Amino acid sequence: MARAAKHEAVAPCLVWFRQDLRLADNPALAAAVATGRPVIPFYLFEEAPGAPWAMGAASRWWLHGSLAALAADLAARGAPLVLRRGDPAEDVQQLVAETGAAQVVWNRCYEPAAVARDTALKQTLTGLGVAVDSYNAALLFEPWTVRTGAGGPFKVFTPFWRACRAQGVTTPPTPAPERIAGPAGPPASLDLADLGLLPVKPDWAGGLRTAWTPGEAGARDRLAAFLEEALDGYGANRNRPDMAATSRLSPHLHFGEIGPRQVWRAVETFVEAHPALRGDADTFLSEIGWREFSTHLLFHTPDLPERNWKTQFDVFPWKEDAAGLEAWRRGRTGYPIVDAGMRELWTTGFMHNRVRMIAASFLIKDLMVHWRAGEDWFWDTLVDADLASNAASWQWVAGSGADAAPYFRIFNPVTQGESYDPHGAYVRRWIPEIAALPDAVIHKPWTATPLALAEAGIVLGRDYPLPIVDHGEARNAALAAYKSLAGSPAAGD
Ligand code: FAD
Repeated sequence: MARAAKHEAVAPCLVWFRQDLRLADNPALAAAVATGRPVIPFYLFEEAPGAPWAMGAASRWWLHGSLAALAADLAARGAPLVLRRGDPAEDVQQLVAETGAAQVVWNRCYEPAAVARDTALKQTLTGLGVAVDSYNAALLFEPWTVRTGAGGPFKVFTPFWRACRAQGVTTPPTPAPERIAGPAGPPASLDLADLGLLPVKPDWAGGLRTAWTPGEAGARDRLAAFLEEALDGYGANRNRPDMAATSRLSPHLHFGEIGPRQVWRAVETFVEAHPALRGDADTFLSEIGWREFSTHLLFHTPDLPERNWKTQFDVFPWKEDAAGLEAWRRGRTGYPIVDAGMRELWTTGFMHNRVRMIAASFLIKDLMVHWRAGEDWFWDTLVDADLASNAASWQWVAGSGADAAPYFRIFNPVTQGESYDPHGAYVRRWIPEIAALPDAVIHKPWTATPLALAEAGIVLGRDYPLPIVDHGEARNAALAAYKSLAGSPAAGD
């Protein structure tokens, strides 16, 4: 009996890190430390070749940096990070067996496959007598905690966010533990390089390295810089890709290097000291709300990434346009604002939100290519690729989603460019070959006079493409296709 009690006292607690790659405001880690057991933090890279929504290339690059930072932070506090690769269904059990762990803790994920994986694993481990506890680190409002008056999930953002704000954010973020007692002999771990997350031959990640610092410290610095430099004016400037006017926190939030509770608290504290920024702060927090809403939609509609939320779009006459899709991916459509966005994405793994909307609208409505093709490309190339936000946003632009933009709202890439990049600074940065054109034609180079083109040293069709479609004609074709849906039930909801 005494032997068993002694053994029980030293049996370790495993902390399974997933999309919560931070030490502060990490309730699973805090709970593990509070048990008094030796703590074994681990990350398991899921081997799922060919599985739907396996991590894209830009996300894998990010993950490498994020795990490096997490491992250093954990080691400095006394508990080295154990890295494994494989199938969680088998490998978590395997690690429990190797270490004699009495308890496993994690922070919850909300993607359909992750929910199924975690539910099954919890059942298996509990059946083996291992205690399993899970926590919320990723959201302000978990999907089942916000309900309409009728008791169902929300389908429209504004009442969703009103209901969230009425609940309020009451749980304060907890500080990082100062010491984490690791086991006497930690289990075997792969080297980070063994996960093979970085691109080689070719190493295309130079632009990503210049643009980003993955990891908890990078996230904290970015939030602090945003509050000091850009919260003032956020409401007015957030649509301007030519300005550094948004937080760029999205990849940090996706990987959980910072949590929304921390963001919320930091914003509220900042506004207490700068009350004039209340309006900008509320606008910013409502964007955090769109992240919550996207997760809410995905949780309650698990096929959101694959299926039209509005089923009448199932018969939409999409086009097979391999050449158009390739021109869009490479930033060679001939519409500068679209091309600048696609090149920003390719180079840095990021695209400004306004330009994401313009580029997505161009693919879906000007080229009439299925939104899923765009969703797939973003999934592979975005450092903030997030199943919920990506799917909800693509369906929003397509008009097929919950609370979506109406299909007939077709972004004009020229007027959008002129409104939100009025001097062409963003376009010139990403498309240097047309940088010498005057402002008046920078968003529509095909209207430049032969003299202006000659003075700028540009031959259209050689140095930069002519438009691959005529926007006016493409718009009419898209609207006609949309009208063809009109007879189907609930079209145009
Ligand atoms: P800020 O303006 O500083 O906003 C703060 C935070 O709020 C963001 O970091 C993000 O977490 C959240 N947020 C802001 N706007 C949205 C939004 N519309 N939907 C959901 N959350 C939002 N965002 C992703 O995080 N991952 C994606 O895969 C993704 N795919 C998108 C695809 C398309 C077609 C479109 C139109 C938008 C997509 N977005 C996605 C939403 C949005 O573009 C990014 O969240 C935003 O550009 C991130 O920049 P930021 O951090 O500077 O935003």
